[in-house]
Order: sequence, then C-alpha cells, then structure tokens
Amino acid sequence: MRIKRLRLTGFKSFVDPADLRIEPGLTGVVGPNGCGKSNLLEALRWTMGENSARSMRGAGMEDVIFAGTATRPPRDFAEVSLLAEIDAPDGAQEHEIVRRIERGAGSAYRLDGRDVRAKDVQLLFADAATGAHSPALVSQNRIGAVIAAKPGERRAMLEEAAGIAGLHVRRKDAEARLRATEANLARLDELMADQG
Ligand code: ATP
Repeated sequence: MRIKRLRLTGFKSFVDPADLRIEPGLTGVVGPNGCGKSNLLEALRWTMGENSARSMRGAGMEDVIFAGTATRPPRDFAEVSLLAEIDAPDGAQEHEIVRRIERGAGSAYRLDGRDVRAKDVQLLFADAATGAHSPALVSQNRIGAVIAAKPGERRAMLEEAAGIAGLHVRRKDAEARLRATEANLARLDELMADQG
C-alpha cells in the first residue's frame, strides 16, 4: 500500500484545510515541538478506523475535533481524507477513504464516495497488511510497547504484517452467522415436531 495524499480539515491542530501530497520514497515530517507532527500520524490511523480515543490521546473521540484557541472558535466537525494505492489481486488500485466526525453525531466513513461501515475500512487496510494498529505506524513510546508486548499481542502484530488480520474478523462474523442459523434450524425442528 502507498499513501499518496492526506487532507485534513478541523482535525486536532489542523483547523484550516491542509493538503499533503506524499511523494514516492522516504517522507520526513519535521517541525518544532507541538507543531502537530504526531497529529498527522494520528490522522492517518484515525482514517484507517482507529476506534480508541485513548490511543488518539483524547478522552472521547470528539476530542479530535479542533477545540479552539484564544483567537479561533472551536469547530463542529473534523474530516480527514486519505488517498491510497492498495495492492489487489488484479493490480494496485487507488482508493479514497474519508472519515468525518461531527459533534453529537459520531463518525461516518466513505470509500470512493460511497457510505461504508468502519469495519469495511478496517478490513480494506487489514487485507493490505496495514491499519490503525499496524506496527508500520510507529508513534512515540510505541517502540517500548512493541518490546514489552505479550506473546499474544506480538502474534497479532505478525498477523497484521502478514495481511491475515482481516481473516479473523471475517471468521468471527461467519461463526456468528453459523450460530444464528443453527438456532433457527433448532427452532424449525421444534415447530415441525409440534406440528407432527
Ligand atoms: P512533539 O515534537 O513535542 O512530539 P508534535 O509536533 O508531535 O510535538 P503534536 O503532539 O502532534 O505535536 O501536536 C500537539 C498540538 O496539537 C498541541 O499544541 C495541542 O494543543 C494541539 N491539539 C491537539 N488536539 C487538539 C484539538 N482537538 N484542538 C486544537 N488543538 C489541538
């Protein structure tokens, strides 16, 4: 997967629309302390479906919305758009993923202009061997967390890197559907026995 562009509006310190083009090769983000470098990485993870406010350094998810400063009023929404080239069996495809959060209304996602669920976006990135929790996105203090990870957590990281994390989600869904079908069949048997 290759990230080609990141657009932020009202996300954390990025109150005004910011458009960042990411060229092939190594990209470095430099700037003074507190200028928003970590916020950029968080914007990436957030758009990929991060659902833990704590890991976005907030108490609630709405804390990602620009909270205002002495000179500027707070915003009502935050939106981040990510343009990514994602490898698929029939060649790399470009996708635009947009996540938007409004105060009091929660998050909504769009994939190539269509409304989708958080899970659809999470699966798209999991299949591309990356995602909000991917070890490829290393924020400050994450190195220590990787070293201190328990065997189960380390296994999850390896599975994510191998691009099979999405399979677990699909397996859980399939198992839930199977259980529901089995319950329906059992109920049908009871009804048929009653009739007979
Ligand atoms: P460092 O080099 O010290 O790690 P950094 O460049 O990574 O800094 P960030 O941590 O990304 O900086 O940005 C912190 C800034 O973002 C702080 O000034 C903080 O006030 C601002 N900020 C975070 N959330 C919001 C918000 N919801 N609204 C407005 N500003 C915010």
